[in-house]
Amino acid sequence: MSKGKINCRMLRIAVIMLAVFLAVSSFSLGTPYSYAEEDKQAKKEKELEKVKEEKNDVIEELNQIRKDIEEQEAAIEKVKASIEKKNGEISSTKKSLKLMKKKIKNRKDGLNNRLRAMYKNGVIGYLDIVLNSSDVTELITNVDMVQRIYKADQDTLDTLVEERMQIEAQEAVLKKEKSELAEEQKDLTEKEAQLNATNDKLNKKYETLKKEQQKLEAEIQAIIEAKRVAAENGYVDLPGKYKGGKWVCPVWTNYYVNRYGNYLSGRSYESHPGIDMAAPLGTPIHAAAKGVVIKAGWYGGYGNAVIISHGSGLTSLYGHNSSVKVKVGQSVKKGDVIALMGSTGFSTGSHCHFEVRQNGQLRNPRDFCYIHGPNS
Ligand SMILES: [Zn+2]
Repeated sequence: MSKGKINCRMLRIAVIMLAVFLAVSSFSLGTPYSYAEEDKQAKKEKELEKVKEEKNDVIEELNQIRKDIEEQEAAIEKVKASIEKKNGEISSTKKSLKLMKKKIKNRKDGLNNRLRAMYKNGVIGYLDIVLNSSDVTELITNVDMVQRIYKADQDTLDTLVEERMQIEAQEAVLKKEKSELAEEQKDLTEKEAQLNATNDKLNKKYETLKKEQQKLEAEIQAIIEAKRVAAENGYVDLPGKYKGGKWVCPVWTNYYVNRYGNYLSGRSYESHPGIDMAAPLGTPIHAAAKGVVIKAGWYGGYGNAVIISHGSGLTSLYGHNSSVKVKVGQSVKKGDVIALMGSTGFSTGSHCHFEVRQNGQLRNPRDFCYIHGPNS
């Protein structure tokens, strides 16, 4: 037991030293490279492509709608000009009408006066003509003359009335055309308002998509950066999810154990990133689960270490080995011998330091396999 305690204390110092080293060399164990991140990046990139496509569609729509608005505005201007022209025509028609009415009135007055003069004493008038005519020929001529004067007056009057009716009809047509134009203007203005509303909506959509694009680009950049940092630190994960089932304890013989995590030891709290299993030198160390070896060799305070990647961001580490039996990139099955127990690195006696991480974060090994001893 005391051996285990010492082992643990030594490793703790090693971990602290490693932490200081990592801090100084600006390494980070907290951001491991993983295929999960790769999947995430691919997903984000797909999302980004979609957002970009959508944004392009919106830009196209916006261009079309802006063109439509311009056309609409031009059409409205045209209608307005037509209405202006129609107004001019109507007002000149009104003037003509006024003039015509005056003419008719004058002509009527003149005719009435003449008729009054002729017929006031109608019989006398005709009698005068009859009496004052020297012969029948003159009488006929005189009567005819009077009738012709009357007829000419009446014809002129008829013509004027006819003309007036025409002008009035023309005015009615112009007014109808003007009201049609006003209706058209109203329609066009309404359509323009609709287009402007759509334009506003599209602009908002564009802004939202732009922000979404920027967010995704930043997220992808962050993943790429995390990947770069992780790659520098040698972290690799297997693609896909861990499907290996329950793990096995890496040491299959009797062993002394030192617990994981924070615990009270004497009067102070201890912290241990893994579980120590002490057994004789050369005791076989077994792979806790199926995976791929991503580290096989010297690993600072961990001495001769093996790290196996199991997928889902899970890695298991076996430290202080006397020898390592696997190579980086090698696939291992659960229970395969991967190393022999030793006391390399920061260690004072033969033991295996068994550590589990997920995406670089420490996990309690007992969450994965049965290990007898304290905390079990
Ligand atoms: Zn340990």
